[in-house]
Amino acid sequence: MLQDKDRIFTNLYGQDDWSLAGARRRGIWDDTKSLLARGREQIVETVKESGLRGRGGAGFPTGLKWSFMPKETSERPSYLVVNADESEPGSCKDREILRNDPHRLLEGCLVAGFAMGAGACYIYIRGEYFHEGSQVQKAIDEAYEAGLIGKNASGSGYDYDIYLHRGAGAYICGEETALLESLEGKKGQPRLKPPFPAAVGLYGCPTTINNVETIAVTPEILRRGAEWWTALGRPNNTGTKIFSVSGHVNKPLNVEEEMGIPLKELIEKHAGGVIGGWDNLLAVIPGGSSVPCLPAPTCNTILMDFDSLREAQSGLGTAAVIVMNKSTDIVDAIARLSHFYMHESCGQCTPCREGTGWMYRVMTRLVRGDAEMEEIDTLLDVTYQVEGHTICALGDAAAWPVQGLLRHFRPEVERRILDYKKTQAAAE
Ligand code: NAD
Ligand code: SF4
Repeated sequence: MLQDKDRIFTNLYGQDDWSLAGARRRGIWDDTKSLLARGREQIVETVKESGLRGRGGAGFPTGLKWSFMPKETSERPSYLVVNADESEPGSCKDREILRNDPHRLLEGCLVAGFAMGAGACYIYIRGEYFHEGSQVQKAIDEAYEAGLIGKNASGSGYDYDIYLHRGAGAYICGEETALLESLEGKKGQPRLKPPFPAAVGLYGCPTTINNVETIAVTPEILRRGAEWWTALGRPNNTGTKIFSVSGHVNKPLNVEEEMGIPLKELIEKHAGGVIGGWDNLLAVIPGGSSVPCLPAPTCNTILMDFDSLREAQSGLGTAAVIVMNKSTDIVDAIARLSHFYMHESCGQCTPCREGTGWMYRVMTRLVRGDAEMEEIDTLLDVTYQVEGHTICALGDAAAWPVQGLLRHFRPEVERRILDYKKTQAAAE
């Protein structure tokens, strides 16, 4: 279990003052100038050594991503964009940082932006996070006032602006290239990659997009050292992580823990256990709605990190743990997710536009059992036709929950079809 001395997010629950005065008491903005004085290369090197992986869901190595940015100064500006468009069902960790610890994010924006040679930073915040946006804006104003950002930011000789931009309620704008389109004032639709944003990003300029939590932890990694971070968690899955635990638990919460904490420990020690007891557990979606669910037996031993969950044919994703006990209609729960992805598809590529609607319609009938047995395999086949054949990851995200359901709960789906047929036959 994570010891208090290793905790980064010491104001996760808003028990302390979020403003600059409170932030300074918690060590934020403490001699940031000397962090910057280490130089761009050294900062990127330390982040690489720490093994920090992106906290937005994909787990891409952060230092490596920063190193894709141009090394030489050029006439083309470079940008850091912070993805605060947290919309993944089950995920609400970034909200707590934005609301209760905005200066931790802003210091990270300065350090990360400096390391990648960015001239400005845009924080793209989910429109529904209205209060959080206001908190961040107040913190930006305080930071300008105190000379921490802006001209000669923190006395470093480096000029750096931070802007807040509010989204307008589209899930797809959390996809990094759709976010860039939206930021440019266009319809939020993903771009084809490559080129990756480090080459062609915001306004066609080199851009790095990072998640809120990723950026917020970097000053602390620099202060305490890469060895401190790598001593937490497991190899290739280092450091701390904020987990959002929701659903059928006695105490839903966000909690910062070590990467690789056993799922059972996370639920029992922090979230007050499963409602009705551990034996009443049916399944868990361990990483936000985009990853396949895990059945109860796997949950007894699984570790919460990128590699363990990938080996279990699921994923850490945003570390949003959705707990479902035996009162859950698992087919209906997954059908609800199918509806979500159909609704949020931007519609520009055929497998996603047609496939999400197709999957949802079959899932709706499977909830009642109103289907033929062979449609299960047809549904599975459609998920494979969608997965990996779309412009952005939304297609995969729509396919994986259905695949997880059929991998672990196929007998339940078959039972419904048989029961429905019996009921129909009895009625005739
Ligand atoms: P991705 O694997 O395509 O990319 C991850 C990051 O690495 C991106 O920034 C990308 O530009 C960069 N990258 C990857 N390969 C690269 C290369 N060869 N060169 C340069 N840069 C490269 O994943 P993604 O589509 O950005 O994210 C998918 C994840 O997002 C899902 O796993 C899901 O868990 C998560 N997600 C999060 C939310 C949320 O609210 N936080 C919402 C939906 C989905
Ligand atoms: Fe749009 Fe879906 Fe294609 Fe992504 S996969 S670009 S959301 S249609």
